Amino acid sequence: MSVEEDVMKIQKKLTKMTSDDGTGQEEALELLKALQTMAINLDVLTKTRIGMTVNALRKSSKDEEVISLCKTLIKNWKKFLSTPATPSKDSGGSSKPKKDSIKDKEKRDEREKEKKLPASFPPQSNTTDAVRLKCRELLMQALKIDGENPNACASPEELAEELEECIYAEFKNTDMRYKNRVRSRVANLKDPKNPTLRTNFLNGVIAASRLAKMTPEEMASDEMKKLREKFIKEAIDDAQLATVQGTKTEMLKCGKCKKKNCTYNQLQTRSSDEPMTTFVLCNECGNRWKFC
Ligand SMILES: [Zn+2]
Repeated sequence: MSVEEDVMKIQKKLTKMTSDDGTGQEEALELLKALQTMAINLDVLTKTRIGMTVNALRKSSKDEEVISLCKTLIKNWKKFLSTPATPSKDSGGSSKPKKDSIKDKEKRDEREKEKKLPASFPPQSNTTDAVRLKCRELLMQALKIDGENPNACASPEELAEELEECIYAEFKNTDMRYKNRVRSRVANLKDPKNPTLRTNFLNGVIAASRLAKMTPEEMASDEMKKLREKFIKEAIDDAQLATVQGTKTEMLKCGKCKKKNCTYNQLQTRSSDEPMTTFVLCNECGNRWKFC
């Protein structure tokens, strides 16, 4: 299929998009990103008049990310119209005036400052933001993939909410970086080859705040297994020292009171080649649960 046809297909979808209620912005964004990757030249621009479509979307949209991507696309296409032959001045940082880089630095500093602001605690979990609610929904579905998990330290709804909250607290908006972060968590939690990440999170071995910031490498199956093994090994070592009274840990979180003050015991419930069962008691509220 030609670029022209591809562009027209996207154009058709974009024209239909209504943005008044804030829905469809996610899809609009995907379509705009697709446009960004296409080899659109002056010929395609004049034949399809996609520039006008994108400009109309920019005017009608209320989604900051959509608006900004529209602007970027239009800016790039305008280069064709004014100076088709000369190489773009905007490309490459070296020819940029110094003023710009200072501005960039200021922006960066601002962002750094934002990062250092303390996150509200306890996190405000109620939101009416459509994007955020959608992200929570996606995270929850990923967590529910195995069905009921009787050993979970909290419900998939609560955990998804908490995880989303942690991610949002870092970016303080629902821009591209926020969405990418959510997307990568969803993909990894859903990964059929990596069930350990899911169960580690559900069972409280990894906290939401940690999972929110993990790199793909850290989320990978092997890393998860290592973490799990380390956790079990430490638990065994500790358990040998304190078999009766159990071992205190700050690694496990109580699903009821959300505090990290638990005592656990590990027991071999069946034959010795089967994994240990961990019995956990919350020292704060007395909640008990187990997992293996
Ligand atoms: Zn508790």
